[in-house]
Amino acid sequence: MRIDVLTLFPEMFDGVFSSSILGKARDKGIVALNTVNFRDYANNKHNTVDDYPYGGGGGMVLKPEPIFAAVEDLSVHQEEGQEPVKPRVILMCPQGTPFTQKKAEELSNEQHLVFICGHYEGYDERIRQYLVTDELSIGDYVLTGGELPAMVVIDSVVRLLPGVLGNEMSAVTDSFSTGLLEYPHYTRPAKFRDWEVPDMLLSGHHENVRKWRRKESLFRTLERRPDLLEGRDLSKEEKTWVAEWHDRKQKE
Ligand code: SAM
Repeated sequence: MRIDVLTLFPEMFDGVFSSSILGKARDKGIVALNTVNFRDYANNKHNTVDDYPYGGGGGMVLKPEPIFAAVEDLSVHQEEGQEPVKPRVILMCPQGTPFTQKKAEELSNEQHLVFICGHYEGYDERIRQYLVTDELSIGDYVLTGGELPAMVVIDSVVRLLPGVLGNEMSAVTDSFSTGLLEYPHYTRPAKFRDWEVPDMLLSGHHENVRKWRRKESLFRTLERRPDLLEGRDLSKEEKTWVAEWHDRKQKE
C-alpha cells in the first residue's frame, strides 16, 4: 500500500511514521508513507495556500489550486510497469462520515490512499465536490488541523495489512472487529493484592476459555455499548447469555 498525506505541517508525522507498528510496517516495505507539503504546489509569488472567504466572515479558507495540483501529481506517479491505480482521496473533516473499524477494514484493501489535512476555517467547497472520494471525521469535536485525525486513520488501517502485526498482537479479536468490545485481559501475577484472576483463565481448558471470552465480550458490550448490538443476529447461545446478563442486572 502507498499512503500520501497532504499537509502544511509534514514534520508532525516524523515521529508517528517512524515509531512502533507504523515504523515497522514501513521498514518491512509493507507500506510506503509519504508526506507532501501542498504549499509547494502554490502557484503564486508568496506561496499562499489560503484566502479570505467570499461573502465575508472570520477565518481563512484553503484554496483549491494547490490541493488539486498536488493530488493530480500524486495520482499520475505510479510504480513503473504497473497499471495506474486511482487513489482514494480522503478529506479529513469534522463534517465527514464518522470513522469506524469497518471503514478501516475497507480502506485496508486499497492500494493507494491520499489524505488531505485541512487547517484554518475550512476548504474551498470545490475540493469536496470535485476532488475527494471520501470525507472522514474521527469524532464530534473540532481539532485545529487534519493531521492528528489522518494519523488516527492511517494507524488503524496499516495495522490491518497482512504481515504488519506479529503473533504477539492480533487485530482479529480487537474491539469492533468482531462487532463486539473485546473481553477482559489478565496477566501474571494470578493474585495481585487481594484481586485474583478468574479461575477459568487458569484452567488450561482452551475451549472453555474461548467460550468464557465470547461471553465476557458480549457482557462488556451490553454494559458499555449496547448500540453495537442493534441489528446483530445473535446465536442461540448468545441469546441465552443476553438473558443471563439481564437477570443478573435485575438482581443487582
Ligand atoms: N470550520 C470547520 C467546521 O466547522 O467544520 C472546522 C475546521 S478545523 C478548525 C480545521 C481542520 O481540522 C479541518 O479542515 C479538518 O481537516 C481537521 N479536523 C478538525 N476536526 C476534525 C475531526 N473531528 N475529524 C477530522 N478532521 C478534523
